[in-house]
Amino acid sequence: MRIVLLGAPGSGKGTQSQRLVERLGIPQVSSGDLLRAAVARGTELGRRAKEAMDGGRLVDDSLVLQMIRERLGAGDTRRGFILDGFPRTLAQAEALERLLRDLTQPLDAVVQLEVDAAELVRRISGRRCCADCGRVFNLFTSPRAAIESELCPRTGAPHRLTQRPDDNEATVAERLRVYEEKTRPLIDFYRARGLLRVIDAMGDVEEVSRRLSQALGAPALRAARAAKSATRRAPHRTGARRKAAQPKSARRRPKSATGRAARRGKARAGLRVNTRGKSPRTTRAGQGRPKGKPR
Ligand code: ADP
Repeated sequence: MRIVLLGAPGSGKGTQSQRLVERLGIPQVSSGDLLRAAVARGTELGRRAKEAMDGGRLVDDSLVLQMIRERLGAGDTRRGFILDGFPRTLAQAEALERLLRDLTQPLDAVVQLEVDAAELVRRISGRRCCADCGRVFNLFTSPRAAIESELCPRTGAPHRLTQRPDDNEATVAERLRVYEEKTRPLIDFYRARGLLRVIDAMGDVEEVSRRLSQALGAPALRAARAAKSATRRAPHRTGARRKAAQPKSARRRPKSATGRAARRGKARAGLRVNTRGKSPRTTRAGQGRPKGKPR
């Protein structure tokens, strides 16, 4: 699945993206994280982005686009991705559309996370992140002592909580203003393309995750199942070796026997089984084509 999460600073895009990464097995592409990494590494991009970020303004479209183009060109995004914090302007949305058209990988869904302004400010002021693994926490939902009693997966020591330099009162006000002016228009942009789903992102993290899954619907569930079964499969066992490793009883039965068993099972489950055609079709009993109607 190729998903964009839209929403104001503090609406929970990062937190929900991290959960989707686990459920769907596709990477999160966060423009904010990529920019912060560039700043930390002291690259040319980081140097040019830092001033705008510290002031709560947007980084130049051309810089951000170049960075996203490179990131989406990496192999791990071929099965899908979750864009978090990008696009943020109409120019970025249009450029993304062109880029994905060239890659023949159009978006599947854009989800807008709606949170009221007072709650946004409260969440941002409580936001902390681990200086080592980057995981995001909130002091209002998990007390500091509870967070620090957990071990950081990178260091094996307790998480080292830090506050983002742009999470201060003056910068937050500017970021919210910029969001209203530059990013909110994207809601109409994606609505016009039939991609937009809006969810209420107030309430606890679990609740919002459930609403997000519902909004993403069946394709997301299928992707999650596929990701799970891919991780369950032993990576080194393929073809004959995997077959040999199975007990005899678990190996595949001959085709005809499998077909008969499937038909028996479906008949038991109340599904009508069409045995006339080459590939058996099933319809819910009672919902089939009226008798005598041509195919
Ligand atoms: P938040 O969503 O909480 O504002 P992010 O981590 O997404 O935080 O972004 C932090 C800062 O990085 C933004 O305030 C902005 O300066 C810059 N930034 C991130 N994404 C973009 C983007 N798509 N275009 C321009 N600037 C961006």
